[in-house]
Amino acid sequence: MHPTVVILGRPNVGKSTLFNRLAQRKIAIVDDTPGVTRDRKEAPARIAGRDVTLVDTAGLEEAPPDTVAGRMRNSSEAALRAADLVLFVIDARAGLMPADRAFAAWLRRASLPVLLIANKAEGRGGMAAAMEAFELGLGTPIAVSAEHNEGLGALHEAVAEAL
Ligand code: GDP
Ligand code: MG
Repeated sequence: MHPTVVILGRPNVGKSTLFNRLAQRKIAIVDDTPGVTRDRKEAPARIAGRDVTLVDTAGLEEAPPDTVAGRMRNSSEAALRAADLVLFVIDARAGLMPADRAFAAWLRRASLPVLLIANKAEGRGGMAAAMEAFELGLGTPIAVSAEHNEGLGALHEAVAEAL
């Protein structure tokens, strides 16, 4: 069994775009409508030479984050608990939202291995915006742009190191 890498975050932060970028094929549905990806999607991926199973969660997007712990029948949460690594994605342009903080608190409590990904950090100011995410207490944010293919090298290295 390859390690499972699960992509988590509130709607519209770019989870599916990142999934597509890492899986290098178009499986997840990317849409401007928050929560449009209804199903959990899996794909094999090769990250820094490691074969992994990549999971794009959507089922958790609309769950009130503070009920996450009570929703073990939710397949996405089951996937999350089985994760060898969670890529927790925030939107560096939008800044931190209450749902981001709630997910972060849940992840800290669950003691899951997490990499904090600040997506949409392309262009000038992207890095500065990403740094706000430090306050989530999940380590150093990795600034990327899934859409513009920026920062993915550093992300690959961080994943390889974390697995
Ligand atoms: P999800 O709901 O978290 O799965 O988010 P999606 O992957 O469906 O993306 C939501 C929106 O954000 C879409 O319009 C994407 O094109 C856009 N998006 C994703 N990644 C980036 C990025 O790196 N930069 C910018 N500017 N937009 C992005
Ligand atoms: Mg999606």
